[in-house]
Amino acid sequence: MSDTSTAAPETRVFEADVARLLHLMVHAVYSDRDVFLRELIANAADACEKLRYDSIADPALASGETARITIALDPDARRLTIADNGIGMTEADMIEALGTIARSGTRAFMDKLTAAKDGESPQLIGQFGVGFYSAFMVADTVEVTSRRAGTDLAHRWSSDGLGTYSIEAVPLDQAPAQGTRVVLHLKDDATQYTERATVERIVRAQSGHVPVPIALIEKPDADAAELTDGSALWTRAKADITPEEYTDFYRSVAGQWDAPALTLHYRAEGKHEYNVLAFVPETRPFDLFDPDRAGRMKLYVRRVFITDEADVLPRYLRFVRGLVDSADLPLNMSREMIQQSPLLAAINKGVTNRVLSELDKLSQHDADKYAAFWDTFGAVLKEGIYEDYARRETLLGLARFHTTSGGDAWRSLKDYAGAMRENQTAIYYATGTDRERLATSPQIEGFRARGIEVLLLTDAVDSFWAGAGADFDGKPFKSVTQGLADLGQIAPIDGTDAPEPTAPEAESFIAYVKTTLGDAVSDVRASERLTTSAACLVASEHGIDRQLERILAASGQTPRGTRPVLELNPRHDLVTRLAALPDDADLKADGAHLLFDEARIADGELPDDARAFADRLSRILAKALG
Ligand code: ADP
Ligand code: MG
Repeated sequence: MSDTSTAAPETRVFEADVARLLHLMVHAVYSDRDVFLRELIANAADACEKLRYDSIADPALASGETARITIALDPDARRLTIADNGIGMTEADMIEALGTIARSGTRAFMDKLTAAKDGESPQLIGQFGVGFYSAFMVADTVEVTSRRAGTDLAHRWSSDGLGTYSIEAVPLDQAPAQGTRVVLHLKDDATQYTERATVERIVRAQSGHVPVPIALIEKPDADAAELTDGSALWTRAKADITPEEYTDFYRSVAGQWDAPALTLHYRAEGKHEYNVLAFVPETRPFDLFDPDRAGRMKLYVRRVFITDEADVLPRYLRFVRGLVDSADLPLNMSREMIQQSPLLAAINKGVTNRVLSELDKLSQHDADKYAAFWDTFGAVLKEGIYEDYARRETLLGLARFHTTSGGDAWRSLKDYAGAMRENQTAIYYATGTDRERLATSPQIEGFRARGIEVLLLTDAVDSFWAGAGADFDGKPFKSVTQGLADLGQIAPIDGTDAPEPTAPEAESFIAYVKTTLGDAVSDVRASERLTTSAACLVASEHGIDRQLERILAASGQTPRGTRPVLELNPRHDLVTRLAALPDDADLKADGAHLLFDEARIADGELPDDARAFADRLSRILAKALG
């Protein structure tokens, strides 16, 4: 039986909100109109999934056909058609689905729109998936012809998006045998959507992983060519996926041409269900340290792409690429609502823990590969030590360091703790920009002499976490350039006895230097740190670390202001000989100033008064030359 009683089309008025939304779509000067295709393909795929699901309960609905989406182009007629063999729509379905705002995302969009200032609306379209109505961004007229599975009736919905739509019954031979056909009569400025190359590019980029195969007919009477095969790689069993397939997929999802260094593919079950397919790349993306660079994990809901802007992972894991496909999130939530959803928070927690535990496994099973990972992304992961208090211990465990005893090899804090000297209670570190200079800096001489390993920290982030009161295994981190060195309890390794107490002459010279330098320093004292150099600068015990102060000053956050402590080596020849001079000798005053300037230069700084420095140096040289 077929219904050929084609009554006159019945014209209906859109719900008020739809009319407003359509007005916006019709008049949109919108740079990213391509999203309409994603929306229509997603609807077609949903319809196929619904049919699949419904025919579980009602096998009579199953047609025996495999699900498919066909995109047909007709450049001459300026027409784009998207057809599916899914569940289809009845007349009542059409009135409900294509005449009102049924989806919560669109509702949220409308609320936003009402609150938005003039001129903001185009941006808003990009932030929300606005569904079916987005077709009116590119089409003057849209026709939807559909036959609901299990019925013998077909209807055509059509509208120019200007306030009304009409629905009429159509003969079955004018409708798809099963499912829905959406025909867009494209606007003058949207003819590119009848070009094969354009459509192919958009489909691959936006809908490449839709779970229903997509075919393209590039002109009337041409054969259909398969664009995507409808298999979502991440839903397949791990054992059935080859490394090449993972690499290809990684490249398409990351837009990078290297190979993944680490692949995570698993399904989380229990309270929340989601699939994860994530990769740690082999190489650094160029914008890794761009402050605006956000994470790049894609979020899918039941294989439909939702957004790549949700916080699937914390910022310090922004190098991880891939996707999470949730079974639990509603498909039509706005991105903003997703961002605030407790489900996303649960996913974030689960995936973060998993990435960190996989990295930990890698570090235990393949030290070389882990070292390569650390070379590439360690500086980013370390941001987490500062930002993610709850996982600080884990992240410190994953961290690797260059140290005074490790040479070019990476050392873990476990390695460090195992090599601590008797009576050593802290983990010592030096911060700076240049590893070579740190390794030879005067401040660590005394540590070297005692065989105490010092972490050489050269990433900007190090100054932040190391100074933030972190500890590892109960051992605090302590800067070698801050406070007293406290080395008296630890014996030198070359067998020499602990240094003798400072001689009285040296004590009075220290007092003399302090008076001479005045406000330039906060204190002058005898050093435990120095063995071969005459002088060095350190920060006071409760002051801000000197490297951190430099970083903050360079970024304009604080002026350089705190005065350093000058430490002198009371056993150094230069110090003892200057100490022996009478206090009114010019040479003694010049010597005091030059010791200070020398210490600044060793820290990579400039003397405060370059002219005075040059004059003193010249005077002394002239004297030495006779
Ligand atoms: P959403 O897909 O989020 O529900 P849309 O605006 O994209 O919102 O679509 C609105 C509704 O129109 C869908 O929920 C569905 O009921 C119906 N619909 C749209 N396209 C199709 C289609 N190809 N087949 C069946 N129903 C469709
Ligand atoms: Mg939709």
